[in-house]
Amino acid sequence: TRRRILVTGGAGFIGSHTCKQLSAAGYLPVVYDNLSRGNEKSVAWGPLVVGDIRDRRTLQRAIAAHRPQAIIHFAALAYVGESVAEPADYYSVNVGGTIAVLDAARANGIDNIIFSSSCATYGMPRALPVRETSAQKPVSPYGRSKLMGEEIIKDYASAYGMKYAILRYFNACGADPEGELGEWHTPETHLIPRVLMAASGMIEAIEIFGTDYETADGTCVRDYIHVSDLARAHLKALLHLDAGGESLAVNLGTGRGISIKEILGAVERITSRAVPVVYKARRPGDPAGLFADPGLARRRLGFVAELSDIDTIVRTAAPFFGLAPVLRASGAPAAMPRAKRAS
Ligand code: UDP
Repeated sequence: TRRRILVTGGAGFIGSHTCKQLSAAGYLPVVYDNLSRGNEKSVAWGPLVVGDIRDRRTLQRAIAAHRPQAIIHFAALAYVGESVAEPADYYSVNVGGTIAVLDAARANGIDNIIFSSSCATYGMPRALPVRETSAQKPVSPYGRSKLMGEEIIKDYASAYGMKYAILRYFNACGADPEGELGEWHTPETHLIPRVLMAASGMIEAIEIFGTDYETADGTCVRDYIHVSDLARAHLKALLHLDAGGESLAVNLGTGRGISIKEILGAVERITSRAVPVVYKARRPGDPAGLFADPGLARRRLGFVAELSDIDTIVRTAAPFFGLAPVLRASGAPAAMPRAKRAS
């Protein structure tokens, strides 16, 4: 029988891509998700238990029924702006929910936990690239809730003999290269999907927040990493802990920064559509540049991003917005995606 992994938030963007890869590697992903932000149609590789991570009884029943050997804990709220307006929700779900997941792990003898953290825990970094030893001084309730999650996990690990892999994602983007899963958040606030929405006419224009940053072209620079690369890093983290490897906290990024204008250029070139642009003021809390030193993940996990060049990101994401077909390595167009957008 296949080894089972409990995947909280497995109906979400990164969680669903990870479930697909877990299944391909011979695991059975058991998704635990309240579907508040995730999409039921993205759960295709194992059972779905609909529940909130703060609902300890439902969580316990799911674990008793499926007996997972490890937990990958994605479930969280993840919008910086929303976290400023509704910090109560962010601390309740991201901190309270994480404690409930850890308590359930502990009560059931599940020792290995993989936790979704974020480059937002670094806040406005003083030096680039960002290393794991850089100061973690988050500037939003979201970033603080993720940092608190990290600290709580570390304390549980040292007191209760658990092991963790804390994965600090930079900018997740792209979509399953086989066209089975896409990126569609509700609401969609992320740059690349919004640029594609503007290219396809779903919105009138893309707003660019700030053109006077201290960067080469004046727009913000970020480290965009393909969701399938992120998913593969989770598999590597799981294998690492499973093989008796030590707990770790690593950045998941490419080490390269690219600007908003470079993304617009790539989308126009790849989709052959003009992208209407409106220039706006800076968004509060945005650092000018943010990119990872990916060296520690390479050394500790053997993880290197492979699909995270901007062309592959745009080509895999575009079909979900009715744009250019995905090109497979063979050059043959993939079937149209079957994953539907969340309403
Ligand atoms: N951005 C933008 N217009 C948008 C959405 C985002 O100019 O409609 C900018 C945003 O200010 C940031 C970058 O694009 O500099 C990436 O933003 P996103 O929200 O995708 O991710 P974040 O870096 O906030 O995690």
